[in-house]
Amino acid sequence: MTEVAAAPAAVRHRLRVTGVVQGVGFRPFVYRMATELALGGHVGNDSGGVFVEVEGPQPDVACFERRLVDDAPPMARVATVETTAVLPLGEHRFRILESRSRAVARTFVSPDVAVCEDCLAELFDPADRRYRYPFINCTNCGPRFTITVRLPYDRPNTTMRAFELCEACSDEYNDPADRRFHAQPVACAACGPRIQFYAGAGATVAAVAEAMKGVAEAVEGTDRAIAAAQAALRAGQVLAVKGLGGYHLVCDATSDAAIRTLRSRKARPDKPLAVMALDVPGAQVLAHINAAEAGVLSGPARPIVLLSRRSRSPLSELVAPGNPYVGVLLPYTPLHHLLFRPVPGCDAPPPQVLVMTSGNLSDEPICYEDGEARERLSRLVDGWLVHDRPIHVPCDDSVVRVEAGHELPVRRSRGYAPLPVRLPFESVPLVAAGGELKNTFCLAAGRDAWMSQHIGDMGSVHTLAAFKRSVRQFAGMYRVNPELVVADAHPGYQTRRWAEEDANRPVELVQHHHAHVAAVMVENGVPADERVIGFAFDGTGYGPDGAIWGGEVLVAGYGSFERRAHLRYVPLPGGDATIHKPYRAALAHLWAAGIEWSADLLPVRAAPPVELSVLRRQLERGIQCVPTSSMGRLFDAVSSLLGARHTVSYEAQAAIELETVAGSHVGLVPRYRFETIDDEIDSSALLLAIVEDFRHGCAPGAMAAGFHEAVARLIAETADRLRHETGIGTVALSGGVFQNVLLVRLARAELTRLHMRVLAHRLVPPNDGGLALGQAAIAARRRPSVACLEVLR
Ligand SMILES: [Zn+2]
Ligand SMILES: [Zn+2]
Ligand SMILES: [Zn+2]
Repeated sequence: MTEVAAAPAAVRHRLRVTGVVQGVGFRPFVYRMATELALGGHVGNDSGGVFVEVEGPQPDVACFERRLVDDAPPMARVATVETTAVLPLGEHRFRILESRSRAVARTFVSPDVAVCEDCLAELFDPADRRYRYPFINCTNCGPRFTITVRLPYDRPNTTMRAFELCEACSDEYNDPADRRFHAQPVACAACGPRIQFYAGAGATVAAVAEAMKGVAEAVEGTDRAIAAAQAALRAGQVLAVKGLGGYHLVCDATSDAAIRTLRSRKARPDKPLAVMALDVPGAQVLAHINAAEAGVLSGPARPIVLLSRRSRSPLSELVAPGNPYVGVLLPYTPLHHLLFRPVPGCDAPPPQVLVMTSGNLSDEPICYEDGEARERLSRLVDGWLVHDRPIHVPCDDSVVRVEAGHELPVRRSRGYAPLPVRLPFESVPLVAAGGELKNTFCLAAGRDAWMSQHIGDMGSVHTLAAFKRSVRQFAGMYRVNPELVVADAHPGYQTRRWAEEDANRPVELVQHHHAHVAAVMVENGVPADERVIGFAFDGTGYGPDGAIWGGEVLVAGYGSFERRAHLRYVPLPGGDATIHKPYRAALAHLWAAGIEWSADLLPVRAAPPVELSVLRRQLERGIQCVPTSSMGRLFDAVSSLLGARHTVSYEAQAAIELETVAGSHVGLVPRYRFETIDDEIDSSALLLAIVEDFRHGCAPGAMAAGFHEAVARLIAETADRLRHETGIGTVALSGGVFQNVLLVRLARAELTRLHMRVLAHRLVPPNDGGLALGQAAIAARRRPSVACLEVLR
């Protein structure tokens, strides 16, 4: 380079980059960019993240710094960049430095990411050396979290340690200009993991043998395994397919017979099953998909997206009986892509759409270890498509809905976990145990809160064991030794029992709905001392007065809350035990509203006569009746009153169907009202109006829509009143009821009209899957430092 007098003076900047910046191709990216801009300096990894020094003309350095964030590799998540100016050294060459000691590394682990376009192109390029290799990956894609045994994220610390790199892979791994530079899971057919198909023990082996007759003898190895799996699926069999975060149970989603077999073996009568289609056009045959939904479907996290189902599609009705939605996901591993495409030398067509459901029994955790899977799944499947890359961390598929163009998480797991959520203030090292259903836990330290993957419902011993194992894994991975454990105040929760009996740490108890509100505050970055008007609407949560809460309006900060309004208590015979029977919630609400159980009402007809008289006696004498202010139960009650749902086989089913009935309604909507007296919100008049409309033959869709609008207006009017009383202009919406996209939309519109700021969930689920984040924030705020307290004692 020649020095020109007019050239701008050289500057040298020292940068420190934190976030998910290791193991994601960040150093080669920096190297390429610096070389392209003819800048000097170096880049390297250390315990804090990535450090860079860059030198050259000021405008070029500025351009470099801008692109460092804007053009970062797809898997990178830049949290912060700190820049200091230092003296120029006259350096013109740019180098990648060896990693510095990372003995105290607390770096971030990237979530697993769907196979990228570049790798896919190679996968189907007959000239590529990884043609049809089911484990192709690069720094921009592939497994991460699920193969990480410990940090730092280097190959010997992953389950890839068993596979020694061949020369060709090693060359790519060590070449800074290569897309696979330091891609820890890099592999090829010569040195990496392999797949295998084998038939299960059963009479149906013959069917596969029959179907395999169309496959040429010359088809071997991977292709033969894929062809055999496709043949088995065509024959209506159920397969166990080992994936990224565990085993899936897979069958043909267009076949009633195959799904019936799967459902009866899995003991899952009608809970919806997710399906996988090849691509967005393939998914469009099954469901209505807008641009935002298509973006989420095909994005790097590849969650299951809940979509509105087409009335006419090749999908079997049994995939989601009576449900207007269907959960769709697209292939995210190379193995999935191979499964959906024709095998060379094989005439039979590949599958069009497959059921892909977690490999487990009913609500137990997903199977991920080979031995355990063979033991627990062998009764459920006819054949196995497996591989020999061990899964270290089990991780279910994530589930999202799309609201106003944004993701509304329903289950945050693969593709998202364990990305940290940034806390608005410092936390002592702690672990928050989460809730009882849809459990996730949260490990926090400093400003980071790591939410775990989906653990499951804590009812079974298997889930409890998975919970304990995962807590240990997380704490070990991030080297956080919790000083405090946080649990829900419910005395019956397994998580509280674990906190008090197993964890050997001071325990902080947190009220359920306060945790919901705090969760949505954290992810929206509400500062430490600010308060919000929080609507925590869910099915059930323990109230300090022993009642079941769930229709709560709280004025809350992180440290404390005041209950400013709630649904009036209704005695619920049997309490939580009746959540599978929405008609009982309806009968309880009718009773409380003073509405006669006359024979023309649908919940009365849905209840067996004996049960009716038992219930009447229970209510008259107050036997085993738990007072409840649950909004979830009110949705159940209205759902039953309108005939949408009287009994359910999975949580929130009645509310989901009520939302659907409302959402599909066009035309005039009746105007219903809640009445608020002091701090009690009364639904009696509203229920009476619905009953009258029902008797006048009003369309269920109109009444359901009217009910949704009434809840949205209730939120707006209550928020407005509390704004006058408190001066707070921010409204937080959380709790499982806000999985209802129609309700969120209506409430947002009403509140925006009143110029109030609305906080809704985008990062963690509004349901109990997001609870742990709120618990962590509340405990961190209440106990700034446990160490200090020890000294005071
Ligand atoms: Zn790739
Ligand atoms: Zn290789
Ligand atoms: Zn809840």
